[in-house]
Amino acid sequence: MHALADVRDGKLDGCFVEMSFCRDSCIGGPSFRKKKASAAVSSLRVRQEAIGEKPGDFSAKLGDDGGVSALAARFADRQIHYAMPTEQQIAAIYRKMGKESVEDELNCGMCGYASCREKAIAVALGKAEITMCMPYMKKRAEAISDQIINVTPNAILSVDLDLNVQQINHAACRMFSIRPEDILKQPVSRILDEFDFVSMISDGKTQLDKTTYYAEYGLYLNQSFFFDRAGGIVICIMKDITKERQQHNQLMQHKTQVARMADDMVDKQLRLVHEIASLLGESAAETKIAVSELKNTVMMEEEENQ
Ligand code: SF4
Repeated sequence: MHALADVRDGKLDGCFVEMSFCRDSCIGGPSFRKKKASAAVSSLRVRQEAIGEKPGDFSAKLGDDGGVSALAARFADRQIHYAMPTEQQIAAIYRKMGKESVEDELNCGMCGYASCREKAIAVALGKAEITMCMPYMKKRAEAISDQIINVTPNAILSVDLDLNVQQINHAACRMFSIRPEDILKQPVSRILDEFDFVSMISDGKTQLDKTTYYAEYGLYLNQSFFFDRAGGIVICIMKDITKERQQHNQLMQHKTQVARMADDMVDKQLRLVHEIASLLGESAAETKIAVSELKNTVMMEEEENQ
């Protein structure tokens, strides 16, 4: 490009310019790497081919015109003439690139074209792809991630270092019965305890998992906090486990009740055993006394008979 600019400006004249003589093109390009040829050797071979002599001998054969006739060639005009797209076609491509207003035309040059219009024309001519527009791709990726965040059943919100809510999804709005416009850019303490966010930021912890009961909502929340230090945000993902927790509590109550009933039953059984034992003991003692009495009586009768 510099050589062409010099030709245009009249600084370069009477020269043969090999326009592909650059690194990774004809010189040092894929084929050269395969053949392991150096740039110098390749350059000499080109000359040899052009002049038809071995390197070193050709200068004497150049003739009066300096070899120009030996290098003469005819070139056919192979220029491709493209029909310029209409304004409607360009507008349609703008829409596909998400450029609805002049503000969307950033003309940042990241696609390799000097302006969005040049890029749109290139797309219309089949020379470029819509996806080569970085702001468009970024917007698309953000739209997809927003969609994913909004369809997930878990409540998600992010908070900046000033503890203001930056993002909140539909599930979180439903959970706290709040509209996004009422909480975005507002302190997170309006809906959640800010203590965990503060501790994440001040302690530099990257992850924290915990279960918290929020009496004001009557909810048990399983919370996972992630601190993105580089992005300066804390993300909180919450799962409503109230039902599971209530079922667990009911189960525990039931188990405690059953255990208590079992204890009562054992106590009753023991009391019964004691009572039976005591009755049996009394009965055995009485039997012993009666047998003893009977034995004494029999002994006394025998003594009298003798
Ligand atoms: S990258 Fe996109 S916004 Fe930037 S100039 Fe190209 S088309 Fe325009």
